[in-house]
Amino acid sequence: MATRKPANTTPETVETAELVSAEGYTDTDLKGIETFEDALRLAAETYGVEAAADLIGDGFGLIKGDPAKRSLIGRPIAVMEWKFVPGDFGGEFVVARIVAPGDNGQALKYILTDGSTGICTQLKELTERYGKKGGMVVHSGLRESQYQFCTECGGAVSNDHLSVETTHHVAPKSTFYLDPTRKMLTS
Ligand SMILES: [Zn+2]
Repeated sequence: MATRKPANTTPETVETAELVSAEGYTDTDLKGIETFEDALRLAAETYGVEAAADLIGDGFGLIKGDPAKRSLIGRPIAVMEWKFVPGDFGGEFVVARIVAPGDNGQALKYILTDGSTGICTQLKELTERYGKKGGMVVHSGLRESQYQFCTECGGAVSNDHLSVETTHHVAPKSTFYLDPTRKMLTS
């Protein structure tokens, strides 16, 4: 198990026993670890355990997919900032840093990506029309619009498409939009 080093430097030597001996744990502690939970409990007792996500990065988690977007329907969103990046197939998608209120008012911090004619196009238009790249509240969060997508046609089709093109494959898909509506509270 040799480590490659430049030839003209003196390799540091380490006593094996010193290298592997634990500093915060006894041999009995370490031998006693049988499950993942045991390891976390022992580490917590000795050093306190923190999630790497809280220590590394900025605390914003990437959300992907329709179920994640669906959880933001009707929930106010603070859009901190957004930018456009080139997609794999020549198009562009938007990367937006957003914060939504949790049930106890805590900040739920997400990075939202979208390349659709919904969110992405909406933000593109705002940037082009107002030069805006951040600082926006979306009172009703996201709105979902479902359509039938045909694999063979490569796009949206009508509900009776399969009765015309009997060999095609159709599945429901969703486009998500920012919903700026201020819902009126009824008293
Ligand atoms: Zn088709």
